[in-house]
Amino acid sequence: MSAVILDGNRIATDIKNEVAEEIRNLSGSGVRPGLAVVLVGHNPASEIYVRSKVKACEALGIFSEKHTPPESVSTQELLELVHSLNSREEIDGILVQLPLPPQVDAKKVLLAVDPAKDVDGFHPMNVGLLSTQRPGLVSCTPAGVMEILQRSNIPISGADAVVVGRSDIVGKPMAMLLTNANATVTICHSKSRDLPSVCRRADILVAAIGRAGMITREFVKAGATVVDVGMNKVTTQKDLEYFFPGDQKRAQAFAKNGSVLIGDVHPEVAGVVGAITPVPGGVGPLTIAMLMSNTLKAMKLRRGERVREAVVR
Ligand code: NAP
Repeated sequence: MSAVILDGNRIATDIKNEVAEEIRNLSGSGVRPGLAVVLVGHNPASEIYVRSKVKACEALGIFSEKHTPPESVSTQELLELVHSLNSREEIDGILVQLPLPPQVDAKKVLLAVDPAKDVDGFHPMNVGLLSTQRPGLVSCTPAGVMEILQRSNIPISGADAVVVGRSDIVGKPMAMLLTNANATVTICHSKSRDLPSVCRRADILVAAIGRAGMITREFVKAGATVVDVGMNKVTTQKDLEYFFPGDQKRAQAFAKNGSVLIGDVHPEVAGVVGAITPVPGGVGPLTIAMLMSNTLKAMKLRRGERVREAVVR
């Protein structure tokens, strides 16, 4: 029996519709959430991400503005920009698109973002709030994974969850969110011993590694739920045939674009597990939906009282 496909596009659309409705309900108050995006230089991937973030804001009624300092920007100049955004009342969220150029001290810049406006959830204050189960802003991708699991009625409490990957933006917050939801969590990384046997214990397996198709059949137990966070590219004909034998649609896309997307989970895994997120169309769409949701949440946490007063008046 093949796995249930956990449709990230559908769940992301539901979340965006909920955010848009809340914003519509605020319209009488004259208050609306605002997001400032900082995009340094001309990294093509970053430009695409930022474009889709700004487009999502427009569709949902979130005010957005884009700041585009040149590639040569200094740490000091970026700090000044962040400070000015911190001080503006109508800006609820500040997103500094990564990566930053090598001359910039990225950690210093991210640390300067007001934790109350840190819609990426990267600030140590928000990481601490998450680990102590206090209200705060949570990193978008792992927050999106929780939405997929919860809205798909995957049992989390008491489940054995294994997270492969310990990055600050995906693996660690993912493990914390699952722990907070009462799963028994194991975090794995490149130094973990006998990874397949650890992964086979998982009722919920989250792969956030960055290695094309690394999680094969031997890593999963029958019936498990597998969440594939990875976004990698297949760029050779040999890999295309290895990962997607007989897949005409992907072969055509490969011929046209020179590459196709693949997650960290080998496509063969869909044949043995209970439920799985596809790539593309799984976790990816949730990341932007959660950014929108975080911007609204930041507004409510920071100006909630004022919004309520305005609505009542
Ligand atoms: P990252 O910072 O490079 O972290 C990768 C993690 O995987 C590290 O903890 C690393 O271990 C571990 N790892 C690497 N090779 C391994 C191996 N052979 N066995 C076990 N663990 C291994 O990456 P990231 O930012 O977390 O992203 C992970 C993946 O998710 C990437 O493909 C990225 O493109 C994707 N992603 C997708 C979205 C989305 O919206 N869908 C968002 C963010 C990221 P060590 O710590 O020991 O080095």
